[in-house]
Amino acid sequence: MGERKTALVTGASRGIGRAIAVRLAKDGCDVAVIYAGNKEAAEETCRMIEENGAKSLAICCDVSDPQQCKDIVKQVMDTFGSIDILVNNAGITRDALVLSMKEEDFQKVIDTNLNGAFYMIKNTYHAFMKRRKGRIINISSISGVMGNAGQANYAAAKAGLIGMTKSVAKELAGRGITCNAIAPGFIQTDMTAVLSDKVKAAVQEQIPMKKMGLVDDVAAAVSFLAGEESGYITGQVLCIDGGLSM
Ligand code: NDP
Repeated sequence: MGERKTALVTGASRGIGRAIAVRLAKDGCDVAVIYAGNKEAAEETCRMIEENGAKSLAICCDVSDPQQCKDIVKQVMDTFGSIDILVNNAGITRDALVLSMKEEDFQKVIDTNLNGAFYMIKNTYHAFMKRRKGRIINISSISGVMGNAGQANYAAAKAGLIGMTKSVAKELAGRGITCNAIAPGFIQTDMTAVLSDKVKAAVQEQIPMKKMGLVDDVAAAVSFLAGEESGYITGQVLCIDGGLSM
């Protein structure tokens, strides 16, 4: 990458988001690290970004709150001057079978995983249009592609994210802005650490590559979709899942 760029990554204090933030820093981006409350972890991500010679900015924000999303976009713009790459990665799970899923757990997952991405895109949309370039990358899930028992809320949000990705891609294609989704399978993070060894073994058995993915597997795909060489790819869903969704 020639000139420096600016990236905003939500949920960048831990897991996949941290790996994406650090990878984009290695690629030559200054990075805004958005997190929900885990300040120490966000500061550690910032330290890792700065080790790569990039600038960082950690901001606490609940992406399910439209006003907070508006405020942070302004703060990032004021600090870095632009946003070239938006990565909507923040996400949560509240798993249960539909019969026992609480309404508030359905709503919370939609508000965070789907509405959050909408608020971030809405607030950066005008700036992207004006610059006539940019990359939007939404972290969906293979649950949104295939469905998953116990994840009706999460799969609905992640499938919604895919529909939104394609719509935004169509709206912004003429301006040279791409919008793609990445659908990870089972990746080793805090989110999957809560699964029992029995569940993990069963999942691993189903994966053609017989292993869980690493956060860097996802970060490498984001790096590609955020880079110059992917400029003719938009509205796509890239599964990073060891073949699970085949
Ligand atoms: P983690 O649970 O490890 O990290 C979640 C991140 O999201 C944290 O940085 C957290 O901040 C942040 N976050 C949570 N809620 C909010 C909120 N309301 N506002 C802002 N930030 C928030 O998750 P993963 O790294 O495993 O997952 C990252 C993304 O990848 C998610 O969208 C997830 O659905 C998706 N994914 C993950 C898979 C996996 O196997 N791990 C598979 C498929 C998709 P804080 O640290 O402050 O709490």
